[in-house]
Amino acid sequence: FEPLVKRIKEDGKCLNGGILKVDSFINHQIDPTLLQAMSIEFVRRFATKEINKIITIEASGIAPAIMVGFLLNVPVVFVKKKKPSTMAGMYSTEVFSFTKNRAYTVCCSKEFLNEGDKVLFIDDFLANGNAAKGIIELTKQAKAELVGMGFIVEKSFQQGGSYLRNEGYQVESLAIIDSLDNCQIKFKEN
Ligand code: 5GP
Repeated sequence: FEPLVKRIKEDGKCLNGGILKVDSFINHQIDPTLLQAMSIEFVRRFATKEINKIITIEASGIAPAIMVGFLLNVPVVFVKKKKPSTMAGMYSTEVFSFTKNRAYTVCCSKEFLNEGDKVLFIDDFLANGNAAKGIIELTKQAKAELVGMGFIVEKSFQQGGSYLRNEGYQVESLAIIDSLDNCQIKFKEN
């Protein structure tokens, strides 16, 4: 998705350990105009799918998820990283965080993820696919159907994308980064 690739070239920063920093337009300060354009692109790519709910993980996924949910006029559920004391029945699983180098529990109230739901997962980054595996597990527990996954940035030098596509999921990434070696951002050519 050219507007995003252009913006990453202009404002993305490469950190050690294969991490791309996009704090000035996605992860801290947010550019709503770019976010809107990206969300329209997600809607276009998943146009053939029936979707009645968007799911994401707090916190960075919430902004793009809301905008996609707004465009599709469906509710947006964000999975929580801590069990709220007020939550009774819930689904939960462990997710290993690549950027934080530790595992955490994610959970979702049974009230908001139901059998038969057709769910689209939206998140900011796809790296090793651990967050996505967590969402796969939660939707399985709920007997919901995961109809696709949309990521703003996929890092194809990590294993998440190939794993999820091999599992048969429609995975759509708006920018695919082949390499961050030597702190040079190399994009996949389309
Ligand atoms: P995965 O679960 O696919 O291994 O990693 C995805 C999660 O890790 C994303 O939700 C994102 O929060 C974080 N993440 C992974 N790689 C990067 C990166 O290069 N930059 C940023 N800002 N976050 C990342």
